[in-house]
Amino acid sequence: MRRLLFAANWKMHLGPDDTRGYLKTFRARYNRREDRDIWFFPPAVAIEAAVLAVRERTDLLVGAQDVYWEPKGAFTGAISAPLAFQAGARATLVGHSERRHVFGETDEDTRRKVAAALAGGLAPMLCVGETLAERDAGHTLAVVVRQLAGALSSLDGPTLSRLIVAYEPVWAIGTGRNATPRDAATVHREIRAWLTGRGADAPRVLYGGSVNAKNVAELLAERELDGVLVGGASLDPEGWAQLVQTGAA
Ligand code: PEP
Repeated sequence: MRRLLFAANWKMHLGPDDTRGYLKTFRARYNRREDRDIWFFPPAVAIEAAVLAVRERTDLLVGAQDVYWEPKGAFTGAISAPLAFQAGARATLVGHSERRHVFGETDEDTRRKVAAALAGGLAPMLCVGETLAERDAGHTLAVVVRQLAGALSSLDGPTLSRLIVAYEPVWAIGTGRNATPRDAATVHREIRAWLTGRGADAPRVLYGGSVNAKNVAELLAERELDGVLVGGASLDPEGWAQLVQTGAA
């Protein structure tokens, strides 16, 4: 049976005070369900506030939005996996489309970041996905496989089992235009086959891209989706509490 994962990517929103208020409201509105996990990716400055607000809850976890691959040193503005871990993070996004397309992150960067996250005790959530031009050219699967291979090809099965892959088509992020459950499932099958072919045990593959309270049920009805990674629709605690109660494992 799948265990659903709902991941909230707050991007550059919600500081420590906002986070405390958000999680107080969220905890009051969310009736815990044993078949799912809820992960929060706040800005780095709010990680500790989020960790304190969800303590004693094994179903709620906090992660970083990005980590640099070096453990420490003269890298002004960056945070490392050990620093995020010390703040209480237990996961990190790697290769989010905004990191790739706004900050110019390469597949080689994602490889180093996945390795650094694993070494630092963080579960990497590797984001992959094609641009609209790549999709229109019929290159979706080739791009996704290239991104998987670029980040993960040196890892063995047990290590691959510790990470999560989020399929996030770039054209669907923040645009109000989501992939159909069927289109997402095609890509998820390819990702799952890639991972299990290298020895991963029951890998979790999430979908992200304009998921909201209206489309989440239809998306999760597709069994290839183990959950969702959500940006805009995760910013309101009441809406997010409602969204995460959708679907059945
Ligand atoms: C994201 O930031 O990963 C994302 C999917 O954003 P949105 O839900 O706003 O499209």
